[in-house]
Amino acid sequence: MPENSLSAIAAQPNPKLPRTPPAFNGLQVNFCKNPSCELFGVRVPETAKKGHGAKNSHIVVAFAKGDPAIRCNSCGEHFPLKSNLGIFEEFHRISKTTFTVPCCPDCMCSNHLVPITQPKAYHSFGLTTAGSHCYRCKVCSKTFSVKPKGINPIARQLRSDKNPPVLRMLTGKMPLRRICEAADVAPKVLYERIDFFHEQSMALMAEREAKLASMNIRRLYIGVDRQEYVVNWTQRKDRRNVVITAVASADNGTGYVFGMHPNFDPIPDPTVIQREVERIGDAALPSGYRRYARLWLQSDYEEAMHGSVRIAAGSLTGKIANSYAQAAGREDVESAEFFEQHEKLPNAGMLIHSEYTLYGHFMHLNRLLGGVEKLRFFLDQDSGIRAACLGAFHERVKNRTADALYVSMAKELTIDQKRQRMSEARAAFTKESALHPGLSEAQVKLILLKRRIQEATALGQWRDRWVFHPLVSMSEPEKASCLLTDLGDYDEDHLAWLHNKASLHAVDSWFNRLRRRSSMLERPITGASNRGRTWNGYSAYRPEQIEKLQTIFRACHNYVWTGEKRTDTPAMRLGLAKAPLDYTDIIYFK
Ligand SMILES: [Zn+2]
Ligand SMILES: [Zn+2]
Ligand SMILES: [Zn+2]
Repeated sequence: MPENSLSAIAAQPNPKLPRTPPAFNGLQVNFCKNPSCELFGVRVPETAKKGHGAKNSHIVVAFAKGDPAIRCNSCGEHFPLKSNLGIFEEFHRISKTTFTVPCCPDCMCSNHLVPITQPKAYHSFGLTTAGSHCYRCKVCSKTFSVKPKGINPIARQLRSDKNPPVLRMLTGKMPLRRICEAADVAPKVLYERIDFFHEQSMALMAEREAKLASMNIRRLYIGVDRQEYVVNWTQRKDRRNVVITAVASADNGTGYVFGMHPNFDPIPDPTVIQREVERIGDAALPSGYRRYARLWLQSDYEEAMHGSVRIAAGSLTGKIANSYAQAAGREDVESAEFFEQHEKLPNAGMLIHSEYTLYGHFMHLNRLLGGVEKLRFFLDQDSGIRAACLGAFHERVKNRTADALYVSMAKELTIDQKRQRMSEARAAFTKESALHPGLSEAQVKLILLKRRIQEATALGQWRDRWVFHPLVSMSEPEKASCLLTDLGDYDEDHLAWLHNKASLHAVDSWFNRLRRRSSMLERPITGASNRGRTWNGYSAYRPEQIEKLQTIFRACHNYVWTGEKRTDTPAMRLGLAKAPLDYTDIIYFK
């Protein structure tokens, strides 16, 4: 064999990576996310054309870390590469609580995404004493049980009379220690009851929400925002906190909360995953190509600790411009994670790269709301939320049944500044009304809004056109919105109507309710200033408690609690319930 052919083989990169991470279960999110680009939603061709004068729709470029990204040659926008498998895993984790498909619980097992209904994948071997069906996975031999419908949920529970008072106290801002005293239960029993309420809440909402697909809903106006939570350390000697971000979506028309999902998976064991990552050399691959792309590994974390900075914002225009500048300064515009020295990875369960949870959240909404005629999303200004929303809904954006707008609000105004904004807005409205004596209030509002659309300010490197709202309220005293799905096909009136609807009030009042009614979720972090200094005696002790409590509160918010001045619940307004439910409807649900 000639010498030079050997060296040619040695020089081959091995294994050769495809241009984008491979599709998984038909899912491929690596495409241009610019809705006005002709390549929006179009997959990157598997091979590049080579040679002199070859024209390629996309080219692979490199980020600083060595992670490849793609540039769309049609519009010039760059997008980072994400693992479709990782996104599917998050979608599955989130969606399985509503669309129950039991499968092997081990995230590392190849049967993890394979349902028990699949022939030959599992052994079925009888019932537990509580009446659940037992299964053994044929790949990894793990056993697990699945509870069938209709089993009395409290049949085997001691002191089930404690359930209603404990649930009432838990959702009435009582600290856990005091609940134990007041209800005379041990902490262990209280934690078991939280697990139980969590399961019951999931089951109740799953049954109701599965009906959404076949209901005749014409429009939903959904606000999307995130909330960060500090979780206390679990080892006394280690004084750092874990920060978890949860994304929530709520309908402005009814107040119904469709989901709140923290970027934390309690199932994977970090020690086992780390060993497996080293065995298969996962960390050496670019992040989007890794088997465990969605999970935060120790090495990612150490790297991220160095590059994180926060920028303070001033005026609303400054705040919007700052968000773009921060996104542009990141290596990956879709991932908005900041780490500081006093933050650490959780000891049990694993933190998820937040953009994977965001994709999972929007894919779940897409499945849940597939039957709704038109969807309008109002997104907190965050490039990760934007990419995940447009990625998951690209087909509905193209066929014009879904639109997305960024919404930004001046947050830290004093009462006096709010009053000032209100009276300015009222004066402008009165002045305009006097000019058009024959017009109704709504028609005058439309005129003002159309003028603001004409005057829209272009901000950020994509020159997004922001409309500053002429009509404000005390809860949203200064507000701007920007249509992300502008394909140039909406007339003036339609645009004015869309901007008029832009609001985050439903998701905001949900966050307020969580703070007001939960001692464990009362102090999320709102800015850089109060981040990290905290040991809050009432905080959740373990990261997984956050999701459990949010789910219990979501069931109460949607189905049990009526507003202060009204007699109906969000579920009633949406058509998922005929009357308010009681706490016992959650406790005895079967
Ligand atoms: Zn493009
Ligand atoms: Zn899973
Ligand atoms: Zn398995």
